[in-house]
Amino acid sequence: MIIDCHTHLLLRKAQQDRSVFFQSEVAFRSLYSSPKARIATTDDILRYLDESGIDKAIVFGFPWENYENSKRNNDEIWDFHERYPDRIVPFATFSLTKRDMAYRECDRTLSAGFAGLGEISMYEIGWSLSDFENLKPCLNTARLKRVPVMIHVNEPVGHNYPGKVSMDVRALFKTIKAFPDMDIILAHFGGGFFIYSLMPEIGTTMKRVYVDTAAAPFIYDNRIFMAAVNCLGEDNVLMGTDFPLLGIKRYLKLLDEAGIDGPLKDKILGINILTILERRLKQNHDD
Ligand SMILES: [Zn+2]
Repeated sequence: MIIDCHTHLLLRKAQQDRSVFFQSEVAFRSLYSSPKARIATTDDILRYLDESGIDKAIVFGFPWENYENSKRNNDEIWDFHERYPDRIVPFATFSLTKRDMAYRECDRTLSAGFAGLGEISMYEIGWSLSDFENLKPCLNTARLKRVPVMIHVNEPVGHNYPGKVSMDVRALFKTIKAFPDMDIILAHFGGGFFIYSLMPEIGTTMKRVYVDTAAAPFIYDNRIFMAAVNCLGEDNVLMGTDFPLLGIKRYLKLLDEAGIDGPLKDKILGINILTILERRLKQNHDD
């Protein structure tokens, strides 16, 4: 079972002509103004899954500033899920800059049955303490629904690239500490945040913190996988590719080079995220 936990499907309108959004959507423009920044269609995603032998993908959109864009993107992802319910796992995302709209969209999508929230990103401006405060009501809703939340986190050092943002690490930890009983996925290896789980007083509150591997081939060498496994545990590292940025091949090569095989590889490639996703289904069954 292979599950890609990190793929993007942007608005159909942006697939057809991205330039129409450049004026009003600043973060979108900074990430996608280059024609090299790929935007996938549903067919591209399906073909990618088939060609790579991937069983399921978590699919999410973009945190559009405009509420209608955000809503439509989530709706298109829901449609995709309805067409391929066994293969497409829908997550909902939105911008936190307009709080009321974020809460409305969070409630609307999770009530409709979305399997999680994410990738929640603060592109352009980065994550401050007040952004995490703004995120809290969404985390509360997600906790009630027993669904995971994926947060876009970058490493604070190294080369720059579009979408790389700063992060108030203390505020992130404060948030994790306030929600120890829910699954929080930190994208992009959590910017290295997992290292702090080696501190005993912090590690105990990070049992349900996960990292995904998205964009790792651009950022780390192959030792990153075992570094995260050694810090967080075998159950807490999830394969995510950031498709269409990258496909899974590059990641599989890194895993091979790192000598990761057998049960650990199976966990990273699918079992770990499946366990997280099944918590919601189990709860629904218990209710
Ligand atoms: Zn990201």
